[in-house]
Amino acid sequence: MRPTPALLSLTLPVYNEEDSLPHLRASITDWLSTMPFQCEVVLVDDGSTDGSLNLLREWAAADSRVRVISFSRNFGHQIAVAAGLRHTRGDAVVILDADLQDPLDVVPQMVEKYKTGYDIVYGRRKQRLGESWHKQLTAWLFYRIMRALVHRQLPADAGDFRLVSKRCVDALRSMPEGHLFLRGLFAWMGFRQTAIDYVRHPRSAGQTKYNYSRMVAFAANAALSFSPLPIRLIAVFGAFVALIGFSYGFYSTARWYFLGDTVAGWPTIVVLITTLGGMNLVCMGIIGEYISRIYEEAKRRPLYLVKETINIQP
Ligand code: UDP
Ligand code: MG
Repeated sequence: MRPTPALLSLTLPVYNEEDSLPHLRASITDWLSTMPFQCEVVLVDDGSTDGSLNLLREWAAADSRVRVISFSRNFGHQIAVAAGLRHTRGDAVVILDADLQDPLDVVPQMVEKYKTGYDIVYGRRKQRLGESWHKQLTAWLFYRIMRALVHRQLPADAGDFRLVSKRCVDALRSMPEGHLFLRGLFAWMGFRQTAIDYVRHPRSAGQTKYNYSRMVAFAANAALSFSPLPIRLIAVFGAFVALIGFSYGFYSTARWYFLGDTVAGWPTIVVLITTLGGMNLVCMGIIGEYISRIYEEAKRRPLYLVKETINIQP
């Protein structure tokens, strides 16, 4: 058994959420008044170009428990969450979305689990309300494919909404990598983990910031940042194609030798050249992705640049 956290942190990434921030502020303020222990709220403005930062400034000026980091530009959701985590001081930290899709009333249950000794309590989406069928389908497929091929321990249908203990936050702090797939990193950490089922609400207001190209980039990052498997698949695929080619050569030679056949080859050649040429380029592209990641990591640039902080001592 662990004691109740002396300080519980909430951290939320915010990107162009001026429509949902008033709802968020009202809900969190209400919720804080019901919590029996000390809390802080760390909001990361991920380079919003609308009025979000002004709303955050007002909120932080009115409530000293609210702390804000504002990025110099949009660095992306995962980096914003990581920055938020780095600035938390609580014994336990809960990651939430700013659009209230993750219900605050699940948090006390997460804290109860934390008290019984779990280091990670992730929310598992039992149902998603107000999301299009293609978003639901692609999300469903994403978790199944990732679990089958890349992240065996990745829990299905769990997003970033979760409670993590201080030692997990410290573990994350010690990771220098720039390509973050937080769910995978948390799964990799081990410790004791458990799930709480919840119903994902529709967005309180505004639009999703994940369009299709961002979703594809997110999935590619999840696959590539964690595993040499895509590159291994290339080798297996290459060996398979080579075997087919070899067998076909053997077969053609045998036909020529025994039956005197010269094989009509034009379509075969064209098909082979185009398919293999195409596959070669795809494979080189995948290898190139890895190399570009090595290049990015080798530069050792900071993950993000901060423009402004509020209620945070440097
Ligand atoms: N977000 C962010 N940076 C981005 C995109 C999104 O900080 O580049 C934030 C966004 O404000 C929200 C959370 O990440 O709080 C999840 O984004 P969104 O709701 O658009 O994703 P969805 O729930 O549709 O998957
Ligand atoms: Mg959302």
